[in-house]
Amino acid sequence: MNNFWSPWHGCHKCSPGCLNCYVYYLDKKHGKDASIITKSKTNFDLPLKKNRQGAYKIPSGTEVATCFTSDFFLEEADLWRNEAWQIIKKRQDLTFLICTKRIERFMACIPSDWGEGYPNVKLAITCENQAMADLRCPIFLNIPAQTKYIFVGPILEYVDLKPYLKTGKIASVSVSGESYENARLCDFNWVKKIYEDTKLYNVAFNFHQTGSNFLMDGKIYKIKHFEEFEQAKKGEEYLLNHYK
Ligand code: SF4
Repeated sequence: MNNFWSPWHGCHKCSPGCLNCYVYYLDKKHGKDASIITKSKTNFDLPLKKNRQGAYKIPSGTEVATCFTSDFFLEEADLWRNEAWQIIKKRQDLTFLICTKRIERFMACIPSDWGEGYPNVKLAITCENQAMADLRCPIFLNIPAQTKYIFVGPILEYVDLKPYLKTGKIASVSVSGESYENARLCDFNWVKKIYEDTKLYNVAFNFHQTGSNFLMDGKIYKIKHFEEFEQAKKGEEYLLNHYK
């Protein structure tokens, strides 16, 4: 089971992958400005909230996608982050998935008892193109965290992750295309090559979503957002069956 926790909302564009950021797109549709960063008034402590029966609203064993409408390591959140870390520490029975484009801020943002990393935190960086992979992966490989993922999303080109995968420090690679208006193309050939690279080093692979404009076998498919995940699963099954 997957849950979302947004202790703060809003972000600043800082990377080529941010161009058509879904937070900006969805906020604009609702008349909001995504560049204004705010602490959640109602759900900052969501993982600690209980129902009338006294049980946690987020049940034990859940993976919590954390801060997916912002960036956990955003400067504006420096005042709030320690409290969020405390919440994460209290819910050892949950796994918190944190994805960032600001891994260079990580060491200045961890709690004093982080050590080699909280066991219930999975940390991911996004590497939407080769330049961002070559910038972020060397930092990522050298920071302490128990579980490290790479998200290639929105994928903008084939990204050669082999130098980083061969270290054995990356547990999983997930690839996603870009969604909504003006979405840039996701070429299945790029996805396939990244899949083959993960197989070389025995790293888990996931094709998460196709994006809105998906190129396969020379044809561009316009995919509705709610179908992107299912279509990606079909693509992933194809890879598993054809490229063992
Ligand atoms: S870092 Fe993420 S949330 Fe922030 S602007 Fe970029 S894509 Fe959007």
